[in-house]
Amino acid sequence: MKTYQQFINGSFVESHSKEWMEVENPYTGEILSRAPKGDADDAYAALEAAKKAQAAWAATTASYRAGYLKKMADLIRSHRTELAKTLASEQAKIIGLAQVEIDFTADYFDYYAGWARIYEGEIINSDRPNENIFLFRKPIGVVVGICPWNFPFFVMARKVAPALLTGCTIVLKPSSNTPNTTFEFAQLVARLDLPKGVLNFVSGSGKTLGNALVKSPITDMVTLTGSVEAGQEIIRTSAENVTKVSLELGGKAPAIVFADADIDLAVKGVLDSRVIFSGQVCNCAERAYVHASIYEKFVEKLAAAMKSVKYGDPFDPQTIYSSQIDQAQQTKIDEMVIRAKAAGATVVTGGKKADTKTGYFYEPTLLTTCRQDMEIVQKEVFGPVLPVLPFTEYDEAIALANDCEYGLTSSVFTTNINTVMQSIKDLSFGETYVNREHFEGMQGFHAGWRKSGIGGADGKHGLMEYLQTQVAYVQF
Ligand code: NAD
Repeated sequence: MKTYQQFINGSFVESHSKEWMEVENPYTGEILSRAPKGDADDAYAALEAAKKAQAAWAATTASYRAGYLKKMADLIRSHRTELAKTLASEQAKIIGLAQVEIDFTADYFDYYAGWARIYEGEIINSDRPNENIFLFRKPIGVVVGICPWNFPFFVMARKVAPALLTGCTIVLKPSSNTPNTTFEFAQLVARLDLPKGVLNFVSGSGKTLGNALVKSPITDMVTLTGSVEAGQEIIRTSAENVTKVSLELGGKAPAIVFADADIDLAVKGVLDSRVIFSGQVCNCAERAYVHASIYEKFVEKLAAAMKSVKYGDPFDPQTIYSSQIDQAQQTKIDEMVIRAKAAGATVVTGGKKADTKTGYFYEPTLLTTCRQDMEIVQKEVFGPVLPVLPFTEYDEAIALANDCEYGLTSSVFTTNINTVMQSIKDLSFGETYVNREHFEGMQGFHAGWRKSGIGGADGKHGLMEYLQTQVAYVQF
């Protein structure tokens, strides 16, 4: 069993709390490691280090800072196999997907390194004849990054890369379920001559360590990826110091399948959404609306596809998905399905915990006879469960899709270009995918509407989150 330490001010140090959290492999039940259960003193030490380092770091050039991002990408690539195994073990992510996440993360560091010579300020026309108005973009300062367990390595990079490039320093907290890949990365980073305090990694619970990081007056910005409930709590806590927040929260993405859709493509897109990483992906389709004329055919094909999905050992190359992250998540899914059945849902396939020797599995589940107001249609499940509802009119489909407190992503399947453009216009979501699976690119902008978040990540607009403006009026 490995023991990790907090990474503060360039060194691995013991937590002030002297308490530990055990990290379990959800598939085997094996205890893989113990990580510090950090407290408010750890938060203070990490934030102090980040504060002390920030001015000197911001005074370097962006291309100098980009050099470190490129080195991080290289280190990840040269350890890609070990990192993928660590990731697959700590969260039962199938090894193929874990490898994709590791490789994508290396590319992500390279991508933001490429922004060093691209982002710029502005010169604005003045109302006075002899005046220039300059808009400078300056780093926001000390950033606190708080990560979820579902894509712990990639989401870490999503916060670290833009923060460091723009001249911010950062304290990053992984989820208690999945600190291993983050601390393995910390050990790689420790080999670099990165100035002390620029990048700090601390583990602990959200309620104790996370809260102390958010509450501190040292913190200039909090970027959280997590649940709506954690986002709401962070808004409340950050109110005292009016700290900037950037929140990427939950989703309940709709997929609309129109009468003229390529049904096999739609079945594949929706199936992939529900079974990838056991349905534990914020942006994937969690409810489908299918035109009445193809509804039966769609349900039949999707049910057959779901029945053939192989779940099991994350290291078996044949496995499509593995265990849920923990027993609590498995129980939550099961209870939601039980309540859906009681409210009138019909189970076409699945509908129960899977009978496996190890792990916390849930069967791929397809539900019909659901109503729009049911919990299973309105609330995030985060498991391999899909309610499918019929519609007859275009306006009805759009209204049903938009009728949700979340607004992260959406998708449409159609072969009519007018329907494509009209639905992009009418859907109220941060992202819309057409005739494809839900998954964003690093050059886009991943930002949820409504309760799915504030601000966003990736691309040019994600970089801007870490910059604040200063406008200078220069009369000559
Ligand atoms: P979670 O909200 O339970 O935890 C996320 C992180 O927040 C953890 O590190 C946790 O310790 C911390 N935290 C919790 N309460 C806190 C508090 N009061 N103060 C400070 N920190 C606190 O979420 P999770 O279960 O790890 O992840 C699953 C959720 O994340 C789902 O709802 C999913 O939709 C969402 N998610 C969203 C995106 C996105 O891009 N929008 C991406 C991945 C996951």
